[in-house]
Amino acid sequence: MKFRSTRNASPVVSLSDAIVVGLAPDGGLYVPIEFPTIEPEPGPRSHRDVAREFLAPFFEDDPILADHLDEIVETAFDFPVPLVELEEGTGLLELFHGPSAAFKDFGARFLAQTMPRALAAQGRAATILVATSGDTGGAVAAAFHGVDGVEVVVLYPRGRVSDRQEHHLTCWDDNVTTYAVAGDFDDTQAIVKAAFNDPEMRSRYDLTSANSINIGRLLPQATYYAWASLEWQARHGGPAPTFVVPTGNVGNALAAIWARTVGYPVGDVVFATNANRTVADFLESGDWEPRATTPTLANAMDVGNPSNMERVRDQFGDIDAIRDAISAYPVEDETIREAIARGPERWGQVWCPHTACAAHVRESFVDGPAIIVATAHPAKFETVVEPLVGHDIPVPENLARLLELPSEIVEISPRPDALAERLEARLGSD
Ligand SMILES: *Cc1c(COP(=O)(O)O)cnc(C)c1O
Repeated sequence: MKFRSTRNASPVVSLSDAIVVGLAPDGGLYVPIEFPTIEPEPGPRSHRDVAREFLAPFFEDDPILADHLDEIVETAFDFPVPLVELEEGTGLLELFHGPSAAFKDFGARFLAQTMPRALAAQGRAATILVATSGDTGGAVAAAFHGVDGVEVVVLYPRGRVSDRQEHHLTCWDDNVTTYAVAGDFDDTQAIVKAAFNDPEMRSRYDLTSANSINIGRLLPQATYYAWASLEWQARHGGPAPTFVVPTGNVGNALAAIWARTVGYPVGDVVFATNANRTVADFLESGDWEPRATTPTLANAMDVGNPSNMERVRDQFGDIDAIRDAISAYPVEDETIREAIARGPERWGQVWCPHTACAAHVRESFVDGPAIIVATAHPAKFETVVEPLVGHDIPVPENLARLLELPSEIVEISPRPDALAERLEARLGSD
C-alpha cells in the first residue's frame, strides 16, 4: 500500500516513510491511495488477531515493516481491550488499560514499534518533539522510554495539567526529557512550531513529530474498532453496532470510520465532542469554519480546528456524503458534570470527562445497539471527577506504577530560544 497527501501535491510514499515524515511536504495528511477491502473472519477472536488482519494490507510491500507485522502487533498491543456489557444493547469499549491509562497508548506504542525501525533502515536517529496538553505527551514518553535511536522531548504548560498528568510527564530519564513551559498551551505549541519552522534546528536535531495527524497513530486505533465490531456481532448478532466516540482532533473517530470503510461491521459513527462545536456546526451549515479553542473539562478534546477533518472531507467529498457518514453532538461542561455525577447510578460507572460526553450522547441521541468508547481512566482526572461522584477513585495498577517513580520538574520560559538552548545543551554535542 502506498500513501498520498490529501492535497495531492506530494509524491506517494510507503507506510514507513509516511510515519517518519508525519505531515506531507505540501502540508496535507497522508491517506491510503485506495482503501483495501477486507472480508473479516468472524469473531470471537483476539484483538491482536484482528489487528494483524486489519493492518496487513496497509503493511503490504512496505520494504521495512512488512516482515515485522506480527512482532509489531504483539509488542504494541500487549494490554487488554475489554468490551464490557453495560446493559442490554449498550457496550463499553475500554481503551484505558495501557501504560498511560488513555487510548493514546495504542498509537504511541505502535509508533514506538514502527518509527525506530524506519529510522534505522535510513541510518538516522531522530528527536520527537511533542507539545502536549496532557495525554499525548505521557503516552509518547511511556512508549519511547528506553527505545534506541530516538530522543523524546516533551513540552507541557506548567500548571495546566492535572497533578497526576504532570507526574506522569516528568517521571522519565534516559532518552526522554520534559520541560514545563511557564505559559499556557498556546505558548507551548508556539515554541514547538517555531522549532519545526526553523530549518537549522530541524536538521540539526532531526526533529520529527508524533502528533495525531501521523498515520502511524490512526491505523492502530482502527484495530480496536475492527475487533469490537466483530466481537459484538459474535456475542449478539443483529445489526452492526453504532460507535459513540469522544473526539476532539477527530483521530479517534476517523479510525472508526476507516474500520468500517475496509469492511468491518461498524454501524453509525457518532462524534461526541465537548463545547468545541466546529464539526457539529459544519454538518449543519455545510461550511467549514474552524474556531479558536474553548477550554473545557474534557481538555484532551479541546480542539477548535480539528486537523483530521481534512481526511474526512478528502474521503467523502461533498457535504451530503459526509452527513451520511457521521453525526456529531457537542456536550457543554454543565452536561459533562451531570453525566459524571449520574454515571454510578445510571450506568454503574465512573466516567472520565471525555467518556462522559459519549455516555450522554448515547443516552440522549442514539437508538439501537451502541458501543460507548471509553478513552481514559477517571483516576487521571481525579480533580474533576472525585468531587462529582463524592469519593476517591482507586488508581489502577498501570497508573500507580508510574506515580511511584521519582519525578523532576524543569521549567523553561515561554520563548523559542529557551527551548533552543536546552536542546543544544542536551543533544548538541556531536
Ligand atoms: C486525545 C483524547 C481524546 C480525543 O482524541 P482525538 O483523536 O483528538 O479525537 C479523547 N479522550 C481522551 C482521554 C484523549 O486523551
